[in-house]
Amino acid sequence: MAVRGSCKVCAHPQREEIDRTLLSGLSQVKTARLFKLNPSLIQRHVEEHITRDAAVALEVAAEQRNHGQEVLATISTLESEATRLQTSAEGYNDYRTALACLGERRHLVELRCRILGELQARGGDTNIVNLNLDPATAARMCATYLERQKLLDGGVHRGN
Ligand SMILES: [Zn+2]
Repeated sequence: MAVRGSCKVCAHPQREEIDRTLLSGLSQVKTARLFKLNPSLIQRHVEEHITRDAAVALEVAAEQRNHGQEVLATISTLESEATRLQTSAEGYNDYRTALACLGERRHLVELRCRILGELQARGGDTNIVNLNLDPATAARMCATYLERQKLLDGGVHRGN
């Protein structure tokens, strides 16, 4: 470990929090802004005082954030596709398909909220690829599905 004598970040009362913030994947510039420090001080601190393991973790976190952004972009594309199909189905009075598209859009919105939540959560080292549904969400989705079936069976759709 390098000598830390003159490092303002090491001497900072919130040093642990600064390190945690950096390790969570927030950029050096944004971290500097957050703690009202000069970015070059943060850079030097990262390069000279954060251990190599931590530096690797930092890189992994950044990669996961990028991956999260990619997933979000894909979700946006799927959302507009679902919207397009829904509009098209409505044009043909195909309400069964339109409703399915609506359900799909709802699911995508939910997925996006979860990803955004995980990206914003403290400690960006959360594995955002692992999007398991918790029981409450699963139950809600089942309820939505049943509701949809009820609507269809109730003859709400005029199409087909
Ligand atoms: Zn330092």
